Amino acid sequence: MRHPGSLPGALLVVPLVLASGTPLEAQQRRDPDAEARLETLKGEAAKEVDARATLVQRVVDQIFSFGELGFQEVETSSYLVGLLRSEGFTVDTAVAGIPTAWVARWGQGRPVIALGSDIDGIPQASQVPGVACRMPLVQGAPGHGEGHNSGQAVNLAAAFAVKRIMEREKLPGTIVLWPGVAEEQIAGKPFLVRAGVFREVDVVLFSHVGTELSTSWGLTSGSGLVSVLYRFGGTAAHAAGRPWQGRSALDAVELMDIGWNFRREHLPLKQRSHSVIVDGGDQPNVVPQTASVWYYLRELDYQGIKALWAVADSVAEGAALMTGTTLLPTRVLGAAWPRHYNRPVAEALAANITRVGMPVWTPDDQPPVELNREILERYRPAMRAYYYDAKRHRTYLEQLGVTYPALPDSGGACRVSLRTPRTGAR
Ligand SMILES: [Zn+2]
Repeated sequence: MRHPGSLPGALLVVPLVLASGTPLEAQQRRDPDAEARLETLKGEAAKEVDARATLVQRVVDQIFSFGELGFQEVETSSYLVGLLRSEGFTVDTAVAGIPTAWVARWGQGRPVIALGSDIDGIPQASQVPGVACRMPLVQGAPGHGEGHNSGQAVNLAAAFAVKRIMEREKLPGTIVLWPGVAEEQIAGKPFLVRAGVFREVDVVLFSHVGTELSTSWGLTSGSGLVSVLYRFGGTAAHAAGRPWQGRSALDAVELMDIGWNFRREHLPLKQRSHSVIVDGGDQPNVVPQTASVWYYLRELDYQGIKALWAVADSVAEGAALMTGTTLLPTRVLGAAWPRHYNRPVAEALAANITRVGMPVWTPDDQPPVELNREILERYRPAMRAYYYDAKRHRTYLEQLGVTYPALPDSGGACRVSLRTPRTGAR
């Protein structure tokens, strides 16, 4: 496939934030000369992006090959920072206390346009690229199971292309690039917000791989969540010799899970929640003195998330009470509130998406008409003998000699003797 315009690969573009006094809107006021110029520049931007097809391919492949998990995107970030610096961007590293977070800037003044995309992979997703079945490259290693190797490639190409045009046209404005660190843990972005990365930013354009080019505004599909680690403290004892002296933290974890799954029936339908046991003790003959379970508690609005979280806390307290263990201070590992996207930006993006279009099929892209050929070549001669011949028989059942209904015998066996197929039939 090839792409006719500026955005390589399928991706979702979401307008995250728009501050007041939008310069974009001002630019869009009807002025025929300005509009004609904008059209020309957009066409040039598309060409500039197309000219970077190799860069996009290399970044996608490079980050895929690193396959790093959240907060450990060391190679990924150092590679991207290197590319950005060599293009003249100023890059701050270790932003917001996160070693793998960075913020790259180029240009001056308004508008300040920030481009973001996630960079982390998921556990045990190592995969040989280009193979449409499960085939780990390194058994057990992490990998890019959700396509987070692609978004930064798109952002870099867009930023470099626009920078080239801004330099030539002497356009004011600042381009900011940033990574979604540890997105799978919902654990990076709030810290970037708190560190003020977006304070002077007019608009954030965020891209994520998807099955089509699309954008949206308002509340989006998907939930918000808190990610909470529940840890229990018990008392160790010999599990065979003196079990009565022990208090099992693992029992508390299991009872919390059981309690939650009973309670689930009586939770609002729109909640989603799931958990994994992170620490289940050391070995069977030692009553576990520590155990922990990690919950994602999802709902569609702030109040819903808080309410769900409160229920989970009460279930955890109940589990501790039942087992004589202690619920240790819970740890919030991440949070994401439901997303609300900006309409004018989404509409502007949608217009550009329409302009760029989806990938266009080329003569190289042909339907795989050879599929199933071998199977049919093998079976067709035998099947042909059973083709229905409407000239000779009123119904297919009559032709086959099947009396309807043909039921299994008392032993459950299917004994239907078919009339001998005609030979040489066509
Ligand atoms: Zn993702």
